[in-house]
Amino acid sequence: MAESFNFRPMVSLPDELSGVQGIWLCVERNMVLMQVSEGRPKLPEGGHPRDFGLYSDHEHFLGLLDGVPVWAAGFDQPVRSDDFQAQNLFSLSAQLDTGTWALAGRAVQIVEWHRTHQFCGRCGERTEPAQGERARKCPSCGLLNFPRLAPAIITLIERGEEALLARGRNFGNPMYSTLAGFVEPGESIEEAVHREVREEVGVEVTNLRYFGSQPWPFPHSLMIGFHADWAAGEIAIDEAEISDAKWFHADDLPNIPGRISISRWLIDDWLRRQGRG
Ligand SMILES: [Zn+2]
Repeated sequence: MAESFNFRPMVSLPDELSGVQGIWLCVERNMVLMQVSEGRPKLPEGGHPRDFGLYSDHEHFLGLLDGVPVWAAGFDQPVRSDDFQAQNLFSLSAQLDTGTWALAGRAVQIVEWHRTHQFCGRCGERTEPAQGERARKCPSCGLLNFPRLAPAIITLIERGEEALLARGRNFGNPMYSTLAGFVEPGESIEEAVHREVREEVGVEVTNLRYFGSQPWPFPHSLMIGFHADWAAGEIAIDEAEISDAKWFHADDLPNIPGRISISRWLIDDWLRRQGRG
């Protein structure tokens, strides 16, 4: 949520900027290549990856950051270079500011989409870039493929000075978080909140308040955040997805997610309203 971050998404490079040095997000197997210079990793800059010794398989213009072109470049084979380190998005979150980290997530998703949409899903013909938009088009049947996004809701359930947090079965760390789940076809995001909460912890909620959203590139989610008030019901967890869920008092919280995620922002906002933090 970096308001001062001045990125303007665009589909093609304006003619007058042809050949201008840009920032390159070089993507290899969902990892971003950081250039190691004087022991410190940074994003490489140049007119093209060959300027810094890399040979990409495809390039995608992403837009302008403070007027500077930003590109994604895809590498279909592992890059072997002592000057570059491949890093995953989680480790990059600690090195890049929020806005640049979101650009890295954007680059990883565009490159992966390009790699997985070379052929039409309907007729099998080889696809081509569509004109004027970020899409690939089938020349035979006309099917358009846009980069894939999976909307997911994420909800903090409040009951005064308590909040309901759950521990997912797939969490690596002993950590409690807000409830999240994908929106289903034909469902509104509000309906998804009510359904997910009911399915995962068995309670009913009311008074949904939209909080904000966050692109979450693991692999292509868009998290849509809500606060909600508990309305009825006792906790009854879905044991396939949740290993534990409890009401936690604002003064006695467990280990919660790190500051990069909207889950934490939802919790921090509630804590502020409780006069903590
Ligand atoms: Zn087709």
